[in-house]
Amino acid sequence: MALRFFNTYSRQLEEFRPRDAKERKIDIYTCGPTVYSRAHIGNFRAYIFEDLLQRHLELRGYKVHRVMNITDVDDKTIRGAREAKAPLIKFTEQFKDAFFEDAGTLRIKRADEYPAATDQRYIDRMISMIETLISRGLAYQADDKSVYFRINKFPDYGKLAHFDLTQLQSTGRVKHDEYDKEHIGDFALWKAWDEEDGDVGWESPWGRGRPGWHIECSAMATALLGDQIDIHCGGVDNIFPHHEAEIAQSEGVTGKKFVRMWLHCAHLLVDGQKMSKSLGNFYTIPDVLAKGYTGRELRYALIRVHYRTQLNFTWDGMKEARESLGRVDDWLERLRETAGDKIDNRKIDMQPGQQLEEALDDDLNISAALGFLFESIRETNRAMDKDELDAASANAWLNWWERINRVLVMEAETAELPAEVATLAEARAQARLAKDFRKSDELRDKLNALGWEARDTKDGQKITRRAGA
Ligand code: AMP
Ligand code: ZN
Repeated sequence: MALRFFNTYSRQLEEFRPRDAKERKIDIYTCGPTVYSRAHIGNFRAYIFEDLLQRHLELRGYKVHRVMNITDVDDKTIRGAREAKAPLIKFTEQFKDAFFEDAGTLRIKRADEYPAATDQRYIDRMISMIETLISRGLAYQADDKSVYFRINKFPDYGKLAHFDLTQLQSTGRVKHDEYDKEHIGDFALWKAWDEEDGDVGWESPWGRGRPGWHIECSAMATALLGDQIDIHCGGVDNIFPHHEAEIAQSEGVTGKKFVRMWLHCAHLLVDGQKMSKSLGNFYTIPDVLAKGYTGRELRYALIRVHYRTQLNFTWDGMKEARESLGRVDDWLERLRETAGDKIDNRKIDMQPGQQLEEALDDDLNISAALGFLFESIRETNRAMDKDELDAASANAWLNWWERINRVLVMEAETAELPAEVATLAEARAQARLAKDFRKSDELRDKLNALGWEARDTKDGQKITRRAGA
């Protein structure tokens, strides 16, 4: 079956057709964290969905180039820095570090690039994009000195969100600081400096100021991936206005279709409400670890429900995740024993099929994929209970698992590793996959220095404590 995904733009399941079908290279842009506080597990649900997407595409032979931006200047980061009486860069740095640590704990593969909005290269690009938009009549500077996008001049505005602009006009909501916009829906591209911004600001043709959040992503995405992207992801709350604005800005400048497929992840809920900073109903990764759970267990709890279905976070759900993983661990141990037996007069030949991968081909249908996994575990266990599964079948299942585990990353192996070690181990596994042995050796040395040993076995990399360490 061909790969297909639900495209938010068309609201339909569409066959995935990359721009570069021959080389099978694809570009993915994912909206990353706003580093004004530690990301919560709701944010990480979105990042884990993106990780599943990337890993499955790679399993299917695509070469994925993924960019995830870091929003390190916006209203929230500026307010946070002001309250902490710290320079913006210093303030955001701690949350960037925390983000990478947490992503490692959850076994999320690193993106190829993590551009930060405050990088002068991107600020320059934001400014030049805004200049182009102004020259085309798609943007204007208002009396408050800020620059706004003129949504009435972009006929496709609202197509991603399936939003009716007339409704926007009829709401009559006018915030005090938006009085000089031409249209209530016009959004800021460049925000004129005000006192609250303190020392945060950049010179521009419109005076000192800072970029709006939406233009940051348009600039970084087009700078690193070009005018067109295969897949752009985020959580559903990003659809409007953020992604709608990204389309208007990017297409307004390039004149080309910005994104071929938009994929959005539904929210993680707590007691039926969106997990969010503002509601205060959130948990961070350290909160979950402090309750005695591992990153592996949390990853499983967040990945196991289809990405377009809302998922309610509960501690019972964490317990279930632990039980499910325990079944996988026991199964693998039994398979290894069975596969290693020399004398083999067992008669059941039971080989894995393609069902799990095919389920993921179908818009990442993880429920069907895991359903197949646990059904297979039940059946092969039944055969092993009777001591009848032959060694060749057990081996075939282990090989199959090795392949599948590259996507699900569910195996216990690195579960108890400290985050830093897990991140290095994952990077080393990736380096080996890419046949970059120099890098892999460097990473082995780094692991050694931390007191850990990396061994390469036929079941993949094993990380253990170094003797005497
Ligand atoms: P932010 O740092 O708020 O820009 O969010 C980063 C990412 O997390 C975005 O893709 C959001 O859509 C996503 N996100 C935020 N809250 C949740 C939630 N409760 N469940 C799933 N994704 C979320
Ligand atoms: Zn974005």
